[in-house]
Amino acid sequence: PASPPRREERLREALGGDGVALRVHEAVITAVAPGAVTPAGSDHFAVFSPYFRRWSQESLREPLAAPRTVRVPDGVRGEPLPDRTQVPGVSPGLPTGGESAGRDLFSRWSRSGLPLYEDRHDDLAGDGTSRLSPYLHFGALSPVELVQRSRTHGGPGAEAFVRQVCWRDFHHQVLAARPGASTEDYRTRHDRWRDEEEAAEDIAAWREGRTGYPVVDAAMRQLRHEGWMHNRARLLVASFLTKTLYVDWRIGARHFLDLLVDGDVVNNQMNWQWVAGTGTDTRPHRVLNPLVQARRFDPDGIYVRRWVPELGDVDGRRVHEPWRLTAKERSALDYPEPVVDLAEGLARFRHARGRD
Ligand SMILES: Cc1cc2nc3c(=O)[nH]c(=O)nc-3n(C[C@H](O)[C@H](O)[C@H](O)COP(=O)(O)OP(=O)(O)OC[C@H]3O[C@@H](n4cnc5c(N)ncnc54)[C@H](O)[C@@H]3O)c2cc1C
Repeated sequence: PASPPRREERLREALGGDGVALRVHEAVITAVAPGAVTPAGSDHFAVFSPYFRRWSQESLREPLAAPRTVRVPDGVRGEPLPDRTQVPGVSPGLPTGGESAGRDLFSRWSRSGLPLYEDRHDDLAGDGTSRLSPYLHFGALSPVELVQRSRTHGGPGAEAFVRQVCWRDFHHQVLAARPGASTEDYRTRHDRWRDEEEAAEDIAAWREGRTGYPVVDAAMRQLRHEGWMHNRARLLVASFLTKTLYVDWRIGARHFLDLLVDGDVVNNQMNWQWVAGTGTDTRPHRVLNPLVQARRFDPDGIYVRRWVPELGDVDGRRVHEPWRLTAKERSALDYPEPVVDLAEGLARFRHARGRD
C-alpha cells in the first residue's frame, strides 16, 4: 500500500507527544483504499478502464451505523461558526452543508435523478448530475454507502453513476502513489507554457467569464456564483485554458481550488492534468472545441442564457456565436469579442506539442 499521507504522519506525531494514539481506518475517504488493488508490476493503475474492472470486483466493507453518543474530551471549546454572509469572497449560491442535507439530497436524487443519469449527465442546462461532490469532499457522505445504495437501485443510470464515483477512487490511488503530481506533471509533455505576464489578459478574461466564447463564460460565472460547475463545463473550460490559450494547468487549478466548494487537491489537480494531457488521459493531445461542445451539450443555448444575461435576448443556438449576429444586433449587446481565434489557438498548441 501507498505510504501514509504527510498530514496523517504529522497528526500521529502531534498526538503521540500527548500519549494519544491515532487510529486510521481503511477506505473511509474512498470506497476502495488507494493501493488495495494494483496491476502486476506497478504500485498504481495509470489507466482508468482496467482499474474500474478490478475496482468493481472488490467487496466493500459494510457502512457502520452512527455511534449513539460521541464523547468529546474535556477542555475542548467550541467556537461559533461565522454566518456565510459575513465571510468575504464566498459564492452567494453555495448549497447547505452537513450530513443531513447530503443524505436528503442523495435520497431525493436517487429516486428522481439516478435512473436518468446515463442519458442526462452531460446535458449542461438539464443539470442532471447529483451535486453530491461537496458532501463527498467534506466527508459528510460515505462513498462506500453511496456505491452500495446505488448498486441496490441498479439499472444503467446507477451503473454509470458508480463508474463516475470510481473516477474519484482512481485519482486518489494515482496521487497516493505519486504525491508529486499535485504540483508537477504526472507525465511531462515538455510544455513551455505561455509566460504568465504575457498571457495575463487572457487569464483574467477566463477567470472573469468574458472570453467572448459564451459557453466558457457561462461556466466560469456559474463557478463564481455557485462555487460549483458542471463536469462537462469543467472539461471544456479547462481545455480552453490549457490548450486553446496554452496556459499552464496549475494556474487554472489554483483558480478552481479558490472557488470550488468541492475543490480538493486530488480530484482537482488530477482532472486538470487529465485535461491538459499531462495526466492519465490516453489521448493527451485532444482539444475540445468550445463551439462543438456548446452545440452538443447546450443545443438550445439555455445554459448560456442562464449565466450570461447580456446574451439573454439571443434566441436558440445562435447564442453560441454572437460574432455571427448582424452588426446591428451586435451593437445592442454588451459582450466582448473572442479573446482568441480557435484555429490559431489550435495551431499554437499543436506546434508546442510537436504535432504539426
Ligand atoms: C478540470 C476539472 C477539475 C475538477 N475538480 C474537482 C474537484 O476539485 N473536486 C471534485 O470533487 N471533483 C472535481 N472534478 C470532477 C467532477 O467535475 C466533479 O466531481 C463533478 O462535476 C461533481 O458534480 P456531481 O457531484 O454532480 O457529479 P456526479 O456526476 O453526480 O458524480 C458523482 C460523484 O462522482 C465523483 N466524480 C464524478 N466525476 C469525477 C471525476 N472526473 N473525477 C473525480 N471524481 C468524479 C464526484 O465525487 C461526484 O460527486 C473536476 C473535473 C475537472 C474536469
